[in-house]
Amino acid sequence: MKTQTIAIIGGGPAGAMTAERLAEGWGLRNPGGSAHRVQVFEEKIGWEKPCGGGLSYKALRRYPFLEQAASGGNLLRSAEFIAPSGATMPFRLRVPLAVYSRATLNQLLLRRAEEAGAEVVAERILRLQRTNAGWEITGREKTYHADFVVLAAGARTRLRQTLAPDLSPHDFMLTYGYYLPPSSEVLRVQFFEDFEGYAWAFPRTDHVSVGICGKIGEDSMPALRNRLGDFMRNYGYLPDRRRIFSHLLPSLSVESWGNLRLAGERWALAGDAAGLVDPVTGEGICYALRSGHLLAEALLEGCPHAYPEKVRNEFGRALALGARLARTFYHGEFLGSGVTTRMIEFGARSRKFLEIIQDLIEGSKSFPGLAARLYSGLARTLVETGASRLRETVQSPCSPTPTGEGGSQAGE
Ligand SMILES: Cc1cc2nc3c(=O)[nH]c(=O)nc-3n(C[C@H](O)[C@H](O)[C@H](O)COP(=O)(O)OP(=O)(O)OC[C@H]3O[C@@H](n4cnc5c(N)ncnc54)[C@H](O)[C@@H]3O)c2cc1C
Repeated sequence: MKTQTIAIIGGGPAGAMTAERLAEGWGLRNPGGSAHRVQVFEEKIGWEKPCGGGLSYKALRRYPFLEQAASGGNLLRSAEFIAPSGATMPFRLRVPLAVYSRATLNQLLLRRAEEAGAEVVAERILRLQRTNAGWEITGREKTYHADFVVLAAGARTRLRQTLAPDLSPHDFMLTYGYYLPPSSEVLRVQFFEDFEGYAWAFPRTDHVSVGICGKIGEDSMPALRNRLGDFMRNYGYLPDRRRIFSHLLPSLSVESWGNLRLAGERWALAGDAAGLVDPVTGEGICYALRSGHLLAEALLEGCPHAYPEKVRNEFGRALALGARLARTFYHGEFLGSGVTTRMIEFGARSRKFLEIIQDLIEGSKSFPGLAARLYSGLARTLVETGASRLRETVQSPCSPTPTGEGGSQAGE
């Protein structure tokens, strides 16, 4: 096979994983190994990328090094969901959710890529231009050449326009938040009535990421900040203006999933640059890692055109279905209240229903089954709790301390 140079723009989870798997597959660690070359261009090596940093169990199971890393994520077991009404559902997670500082995670992934034999270049890439032989890549410092370009430069990259049709503002969520001193070890998520998004507090090993995301068009930035302010006041998180973050989070519309192009002649998109984020939960790290891994597999097989199909089969179709579900999840009604309100009320009463919520957090079941289970779970819980309890549920929010079946120890 002809010697190839692969240029990866962006050293986040998607780019670092592509680089590691490619370098590993080509044996670049060994001095006498293959003559292929893998370069990762990253303008902010190992930075604290704005993020919750939550890694579901699905990701930890697939990549055990993430759980085992000595300076790894904070493994959390205590969670609390808060309904728009203010009703709360404290519960114990069946399996841990790791919350990583993104600086720690990015450094870990880039180190693994380097150890496998990839070159990590501290450089901001300004322009991509096609040549007869491949690509000319203009950096701030130098110009580079490559046979194949992987764009893994995150949600805000403008370089995407060179390769594929741009996404629309409706394909993103706005986010805003703070990194605060460590507080309780409880992972909190608050939903709002008729609003596509949520506020979160994700405790890490030495600080907590507190923030909010909302689909563009739902709220202005000041309105988003006000929602977050209420959440923080209610739970005692004090804003610190010195450590604010804001960023875009992909949340592709149903149409954009239908039109998504992941690869073309000598190029491919991975992670957020491709829009590969769960439209309901906002989980993107796992899909960035998986897309990088699948892309590397396709390149190693000498068949980069197989990459989009690999993504579609493994999780793309499920995420596209998630885009259909997102509106119902955040705006839908069940028995005169929002779905998220009912989900929390019912989760506090029924062990079976709490299991559905645990599946959603773990990512252990994909959306095709989830929508049906959510609705059949709501209906079944109604029957279980009986008409009198139902009236009580409909008239008043559930008690802050769940009692009866499915209480706070339900997952144990
Ligand atoms: C506020 C917020 C909270 C989130 N919370 C979670 C969460 O809790 N769990 C979860 O799973 N997902 C979460 N996500 C999503 C997650 O952050 C992303 O899905 C994930 O980081 C995508 O990885 P990536 O490698 O594709 O992109 P990124 O992590 O964005 O990495 C892209 C890299 O490219 C570099 N880059 C960009 N342009 C250039 C250039 N021109 N030249 C060189 N380098 C460049 C950047 O510096 C960056 O390091 C959240 C997102 C946001 C915004």
